[in-house]
Amino acid sequence: MINLTLSQIIQGLRQGEFSSRELTQMYLDRISQLESQLQCFITITPETALEKADLADRKIKKYRNGEENTIHPLLGIPIAVKDVLTTKGIRSTAGSRILENFIPPFNATVIERLLEVGMVILGKTNMDEFAMGSSTENSAYKTSRNPWDQDCVPGGSSGGSAASVAARLAPIALGSDTGGSIRQPAAYCGITGLKPTYGRISRFGLIAYGSSLDCVGILGRSAEDISEILAVISGEDHKDATCAKLPNLTIDIGNPISLKGIRIGIPEEYFIEGIQPEVESAVRGALELLEEFGAEIHPVKLPHTAYSVPVYYILAPAEASANLARYDGIRYGPRIDSDLISDIYNKTRGKLFGAEVKRRIMLGTYALSSGYYDEYYGKAQKVRRLILQDFLEAFKLVDIVAAPVTPTTAFKVGAHQDDPLSMYLEDVFTIPANLAGIPGLALPVGFDKAGLPIGIQFMAPHFQEEILLQIGHSFQAKTDWHTKVPNFLES
Ligand code: GLN
Repeated sequence: MINLTLSQIIQGLRQGEFSSRELTQMYLDRISQLESQLQCFITITPETALEKADLADRKIKKYRNGEENTIHPLLGIPIAVKDVLTTKGIRSTAGSRILENFIPPFNATVIERLLEVGMVILGKTNMDEFAMGSSTENSAYKTSRNPWDQDCVPGGSSGGSAASVAARLAPIALGSDTGGSIRQPAAYCGITGLKPTYGRISRFGLIAYGSSLDCVGILGRSAEDISEILAVISGEDHKDATCAKLPNLTIDIGNPISLKGIRIGIPEEYFIEGIQPEVESAVRGALELLEEFGAEIHPVKLPHTAYSVPVYYILAPAEASANLARYDGIRYGPRIDSDLISDIYNKTRGKLFGAEVKRRIMLGTYALSSGYYDEYYGKAQKVRRLILQDFLEAFKLVDIVAAPVTPTTAFKVGAHQDDPLSMYLEDVFTIPANLAGIPGLALPVGFDKAGLPIGIQFMAPHFQEEILLQIGHSFQAKTDWHTKVPNFLES
């Protein structure tokens, strides 16, 4: 049962082959069996999950008896949720000690929408603190492990979500992507991940990191599975003014579309020196296949790509330094008490934020400080515009752009520990889409010699998730990398 795709699960539930309780219990059992090795969850919620599953089973029964005309396809289906999304009554930590005991009084809009259709939340997944990181090593709680090689990281910051989907601890999961946090762990774990257009999905209840970049997105086993969830969580939300006034995006994925005549742009700037040769050859191999399937491959130029990392590491910390000002020990989370209020702030923030978060608050505060604003933040905004312009020019010539997701496959736990800059460079291929606000889809296209997964990334113009997912689905209908399972799960 663990290898069923979402559409097979939907069918099985409707036809009474298994109940939502059986399905949910199976995932909960797998979680308790494998959590000590993989460290995917910060909080597991078996009681509420089984309660919701029973509720779903009652509705499904009514539907099967003819007492109910329709049920939502996702009714009774389990999902894992990154701990950066607020869940009413369920602890939401964002991977930080400063929110260790924070039980939100409200649901994020995306959570509200999952619950409305009757989905079953299995628990809250591990992540780098406040989504700052690429490995989950910045989590205050644990380091998640890559199911393909447990000495390696699963990527981050949505590493717990990615590893749980890859290890079949959940059929699908939610994550967030500010600079690559869905696509990079999806690539490292051999699964599919969608970062939507900025504004496609409400950010209400997404604990903020860099507000002009943050996106909620989906990690699953295929483009098809991801479309099912996108249909539910996307769309206008009056609680988020940056969310586009568009209906939810329902994609009729049905039969795979023909790739004939689809124009795919290849930016030379993404095949840089230092990229792991196996990554380059797997990505180029996938492009040859796409050509065989009828797509046209065209070279395109994205000349400002090299500025993406420095621009991001000014803008994101600057926004973070403002967003994280609210964690003062007074309003949320634990407090380290003192007689003076300024001491409360200093001690609480000093002790309960991790090193990387403090580094970024300092970087961001500096970049925003008077006298430096124009030099750093203002300049970075201008370069951000040029990076967007590059994409707009490229999309005059091609339908999508394809590139590697990461320069290397998953690295060993601890590999970048003493060198934050080398960790930041991991984001070189994912950050541009965030700066431009465009959607990106990562999907598996092979393995390196060590057996670690490799991903390709498709990027499309704003609000063109449909073409990304359609192309992804057509590709996956003809290839089988997305069906591969980590070795240790096969035994
Ligand atoms: N790795 C990047 C960072 O550390 C991206 C994180 C993200 O997308 N949330 O900021």
